[in-house]
Order: sequence, then C-alpha cells, then structure tokens
Amino acid sequence: MQQFDVVIVGGGMVGGALACALAPTGLKVAVIEKTKPLNYSPEQAMDLRVSAISVASEQLLAQVGAWPHVLKMRSCPYRYLETWEAPNSNLLFDSQNMNREYLGHIVENRLIQLALWQQLEQFDNIELFVGESITALNALADGYQVDLSQQQLTCKLLIGADGANSMVRQVANIGVTAWDYAQHAMLINITTSAPQQDITWQQFTASGPRALLPLSGNKASLVWYDKPEKIKALANLPLDALKQQVIDNFPQRLGEFSVDACGSFPLTRRHAQQYFKRNLCVVGDAAHTINPLAGQGVNLGFKDVVALSQVISSATEQGQCWWSEETLAKYEQARRGDNLLMQSAMDLFYLSFSNERLPLKLLRNTALKVAGKSSWGKNKVMKYAMGL
Ligand SMILES: Cc1cc2nc3c(=O)[nH]c(=O)nc-3n(C[C@H](O)[C@H](O)[C@H](O)COP(=O)(O)OP(=O)(O)OC[C@H]3O[C@@H](n4cnc5c(N)ncnc54)[C@H](O)[C@@H]3O)c2cc1C
Repeated sequence: MQQFDVVIVGGGMVGGALACALAPTGLKVAVIEKTKPLNYSPEQAMDLRVSAISVASEQLLAQVGAWPHVLKMRSCPYRYLETWEAPNSNLLFDSQNMNREYLGHIVENRLIQLALWQQLEQFDNIELFVGESITALNALADGYQVDLSQQQLTCKLLIGADGANSMVRQVANIGVTAWDYAQHAMLINITTSAPQQDITWQQFTASGPRALLPLSGNKASLVWYDKPEKIKALANLPLDALKQQVIDNFPQRLGEFSVDACGSFPLTRRHAQQYFKRNLCVVGDAAHTINPLAGQGVNLGFKDVVALSQVISSATEQGQCWWSEETLAKYEQARRGDNLLMQSAMDLFYLSFSNERLPLKLLRNTALKVAGKSSWGKNKVMKYAMGL
C-alpha cells in the first residue's frame, strides 16, 4: 500500500498540467494514466487531435516549465483569426491590433501531454503510473483507496482528470447535464502547396462550420462540422474522394493540397452537477465538455488547473485542511460560472448559425459586419478568447 496526498486519475493535458502545478506545494502526488503516448520524433506525421492553445494556457504551460518542451517539438503560432458567413461579413482579428506577436498556437494534444510529462520527471514528489488501469476505487474514512492491477494506493484527495466519460465522476455519483449536438466533427489533416501558417479561419455554412487550423510546415487541420449521417458517409470515403468533397465544400482558399489522414468525433455538451464531493473533485473534460467551434475546451481545463492548484496551495501555506470540502468549494466557485458562460456562448453561436431563417441570417451577418468595424469590441472578444 503506497500513501499519497493526491491521486490524479488521467495524465492527459489537464491531469499532467495539474500535477506540475501542484509540485511546488510539496504534496506527494500520483498520476495514473492508462495509455502511454508515443514518444516524439520530428519525422512523425501530424496527429489528428490538435488544440488551439490560448495565450493564458501558454502562460500556465510556461509557468509549470512545459512550454519550452512544446516549442522544441512542434507548434504553429498564428497571427490572424478570420470568421465569416456571407462573403462580405468577414470578421478579422489581427494580433498587431492587440500589440502581440501572435493570437495563439495550434499544438498536437499528444505533444502538450509529452511536454508536461518531461516536466513531471523533474519533481521527486510526483510519481507517474503509466499503462495502469484502475480495478477499484473505494472511499475511506478520510480519503480514497485506489486499486491498480499490481498495487494499491491511498490518498486524501482523489482528482478525476480522466476525460469526458470520467470513471471518477461516475464512482462519486456526480450527475451531468448533457446533450448531443446535432453535428459531428470530421478532422482532416492536409498538406498544402502554398504556406498558410499565419491564419486560422472558420466559415459558417447552413450545415455547420468549415475551419482551418494551421500546423507547422505546410500542414493544416481542417475541421468539417456537419450532420452525423453526412460525417459518417465522409468517414467511409477513400482519401482522394474525400479530397474532392473538401474542394466542393470548403472555401476556395486552400490552393493545391493533399489529404493525409482523417477521423470523426461526435459532439456532446456535458456539465457536472458538482465539481467536488468529500475527498474528491473533477477537472477538465471530466467536469465539462463544450462545442469545439471556438477551440476552447482544453483552455477551460487549464483554467480549472490554475484555480484548483491556487486554492490547494494557499490552504497548505495557511496551514488549513487543503483537501476539505470548504477548500474544494472555492475551486468550484472560481470555475463553474466561467465554464458555463463559455459553454453558453458556444451554444449561442451553434444555434444561431445553424438556423436558416432569413431574418436571423440577416441579423447575424449584420452583427458580424458591425463587430468587424468596432476595434474596441473586437479587442474585448479576442481578449476573452485568449483568456486574458
Ligand atoms: C473535434 C474536437 C476539437 C477540439 N479542439 C479543441 C481546440 O482547438 N482547443 C481546445 O482548447 N480544445 C479543443 N477540444 C477539446 C479538448 O480536446 C479537450 O477539452 C481536452 O482533450 C480535455 O483534456 P483532458 O485532459 O481533460 O481530457 P482527455 O484529453 O480526455 O484526457 C483524459 C486522460 O485520462 C486518461 N484516462 C481516462 N480514464 C482513465 C482511467 N480509468 N485510468 C487511467 N487513465 C484514464 C486518458 O487515457 C487520457 O489520457 C476539441 C475537442 C474535439 C472533440
């Protein structure tokens, strides 16, 4: 039986970042991750799962020492963000107007995880259990017992960073408010003849958005949102037929390109009814999932990391019970409203742009045009998206 202060289930982007952020508290932390990510080498093809990382998330990753590892592998900074529905309703954000070199970075999820794991190795008080599955989770008088296939761990605080279908959340009987969006997303990795690395764009169409996220080299990730049956049909096409579908359905901005890989994902909104219970809490996708149309999911998860690590650190500094419900309530108080606001803002976009009624169409395109002319409004929106 090994004793820890904290056991984090899930060593993905959010679990890895939380462990790094807790390291300076001196608490003894175990991270349990069932899947070992592939090590990085530069000749590897781009992963399908990539994220738009906000400036605030970059700051967290820098603060915990992982950002230099990301930059040593691969990432793509972008200067412009453009969105439109009708051709003359373009809304363009430029990093120069924000006095910044870039608006954010697109990074493969696995590389963020690997960067955090490299950093975890520096800390004596953090132990990573990789390739481990949990066979049982049992509540103790003041903590949890976590049974792995070969060993048992105990902790005062159990943290679920185990993604959308969180086992920790289910074991704790924490319910979720959830619904499926009437759209799935298809991710398509492409190589373009001409570089277009400094911009990310998204066009809203009647059946769902079409987006481009630039990747390093002449690579990019296309995101095609559409009805589930359409995405299922696209997923069954050979890559050359899929390329023709992209030519027919995406804006004519890509130039010559080849399709490298693709994969599809259902989209579900979830919000945990509580973020904590006695000796336990949930973070990241285990607490909330969001429509990815503005690339905010893991950025919200990183904000959870900042809030939870801060309440635990300040409780330890003040000699308070850092794992008490009172401490964990401060974490939920700091995060629930912000997560709900972002979820609702994304739903507003999703619902208003999925509606083909003419008055609404005119209204949203007018709103985009008006917003495009207001530098004050654009800066406010962009600052919020950048997490500043
Ligand atoms: C199509 C799509 C596009 C997206 N684009 C963006 C974007 O551009 N920007 C953005 O911010 N977000 C984006 N997101 C959201 C983002 O991917 C998620 O918010 C993010 O992956 C959540 O990270 P996490 O660490 O909380 O969970 P996960 O990434 O799900 O990680 C959970 C980890 O826990 C491990 N695990 C699970 N169960 C167990 C167990 N029982 N024992 C041990 N380990 C376990 C898993 O192996 C995994 O490593 C997108 C999502 C989708 C679907």
